[in-house]
Amino acid sequence: MAKFYITTPIYYPNARLHIGHAYTTVAADALARYHRLLGDEVFFLTGTDEHGQKIGRTAQEAGLSPQQYVDQIVATIRELWGTLAISYDDFIRTSEDRHRTVVQEVFRQLVASGDVYKGTYEGWYCTPDESFWPEGRLVDGKCPVCGRAVERVQEESYFLKLAPYAERLKRHILEHPGFIQPESRRNEMLAFIDQGLDDLSISRTSFDWGVPLPGDEKHVAYVWIDALTNYITAAGFGSDAERFARLWPADVHLVGKEIVRFHAIIWPIILLALKLPLPKTVFGHGWLLLDDAKIGKSTGNVIDPTTLVERYGLDAVRYYLLREVAFGSDGSYSEPSLVLRTNVDLANDLGNLLSRTTAMLERFSAGKVPVPVGTSNLRPVAEAAIYECEQALASLSLSDALVALFRLVKAANKSIEEEAPWTLHRNQDPRLAAVLYDLAESLRITAVALRPFLIDAPAKIYAQLGAGDIGATSWQDVAWGGLKPGATIQRGAPLFPRIEAEEPTASAPRPAVAATTSAKATAEKAGTIELADFKRLELKVARVVSAEPVEGSRKLLKLTLDLGAEQRTVVSGIAGHYDGPALVGKDVILVANLAPATIFGIESGGMILAARDRDQLRLLTVDGSLQPGSSVS
Ligand SMILES: [Zn+2]
Repeated sequence: MAKFYITTPIYYPNARLHIGHAYTTVAADALARYHRLLGDEVFFLTGTDEHGQKIGRTAQEAGLSPQQYVDQIVATIRELWGTLAISYDDFIRTSEDRHRTVVQEVFRQLVASGDVYKGTYEGWYCTPDESFWPEGRLVDGKCPVCGRAVERVQEESYFLKLAPYAERLKRHILEHPGFIQPESRRNEMLAFIDQGLDDLSISRTSFDWGVPLPGDEKHVAYVWIDALTNYITAAGFGSDAERFARLWPADVHLVGKEIVRFHAIIWPIILLALKLPLPKTVFGHGWLLLDDAKIGKSTGNVIDPTTLVERYGLDAVRYYLLREVAFGSDGSYSEPSLVLRTNVDLANDLGNLLSRTTAMLERFSAGKVPVPVGTSNLRPVAEAAIYECEQALASLSLSDALVALFRLVKAANKSIEEEAPWTLHRNQDPRLAAVLYDLAESLRITAVALRPFLIDAPAKIYAQLGAGDIGATSWQDVAWGGLKPGATIQRGAPLFPRIEAEEPTASAPRPAVAATTSAKATAEKAGTIELADFKRLELKVARVVSAEPVEGSRKLLKLTLDLGAEQRTVVSGIAGHYDGPALVGKDVILVANLAPATIFGIESGGMILAARDRDQLRLLTVDGSLQPGSSVS
């Protein structure tokens, strides 16, 4: 039995997760489910990266201990994975004892091997933000988050030497073409190594919410050895040698493209220093984009996957995420495209094929699967589709795998038009049985092959075809001929009801940069928040000092905002709605305590509020003139 160890990144529980996280995790889930159907021993790991200064501070602001704070967020994350039917085998939390032990052991080994030394981390410190910034992150010599003056400070730190491993890593990348995928990321990483690798600071003394380092407990492990090592902790490193030998190395680390470097350079070097084998594949998928900006909390365009599942159903959301974007490339998310995909692929193509097929079996075959006589037209189509689907899954091309399967669905629908079973029936043509069997068997095979991707539909298809318990099937059941003649059809409700355009949800303004949409989504869930939740938002009146286009983007403007005591740079997706110069002097509302995000290489320190009505977008402002920096409550 082969083993298949797949991981998602561990997520940072600083806020609720959004559709971008769902995208990565649903993809990992589909691959895990596929390998389980193949009969592999699958270990599917996800989890949370819980330490660090930001969590410590957010917890403090919420009046909680860091552990209490992360416990709350982790509960919402587990709930979300439940909603999306994520079949993880283990959920690792870096605050767990089992992980603390491993981080400390890793540190001990790296010290013992001479790869780690104690030195001084120099950087620029912003006192109000309690943040260190390397020289290169400063903006005009000022703090990139708040724009205030920074001071030069030194902090004692442990460092991991990367340079001694650069050549070995480079050779490994060149000799293992599958190690970093897709190829564009591989080339980026090779170029990065060629620039030279600086020693890596792996500890901090400026905060204490982390794993204390053995022998020098004023240091806590910094993210590199604290977070990346989760992948070996969960596999049994240091706790279960037999299991670790079986599971490690991981087969696939699935990561967003922004963290490929950590997984393809830093993590392998840590493993080389520990004398452990390297993961077989680091796959950097693209981003789901919205108005040219990555979907993320920092840019404000958060889409709640739970709301989408409630609105459109689990299978529709999973199908959309896995089908819409070529895995590895960037893709754009929009609610109309989700509705379109659901209606065209799932309701029209797949759902109609099932209802037409079962209706014809009832009318022309007494509700039973007939004994096929003669040649099958769809069998070669099905075999080709399955072959392509398998090839695509082997190279992690999830959307290609679905395209291949739906080629069979389309061919089956086309064969109904061409063969006209109703005419064959009227003429008492003996070919009728073969045509009907072809349709039913194509559907059965599609149902099995869809099991990695969809949760409810495959079982419904099986039940309507009278094919038995789909839970008992494996990938071998995609072979032609599995449907038993004589099985009784049980017609049921439409597999995917069409989403009607006049339904308010379908024609509603699509979720976008405007904060109003997520508020709307929350309201639609009939959820409420406490006043204290609202009070956590720091809303301020900000005056636009300048507004310039962002090079390379049609949608974004780079705004400089006056907040009275400070100036902020904010990147906003409003270029299609406002002319830059016309904004200067205007007062807008800024979410001032949003974590900074880098958008098109620009550090954006907050989000300005706007309302959207279909294609119209208008900025929020104040009624009358107030001092910049005035607070909104
Ligand atoms: Zn600052």
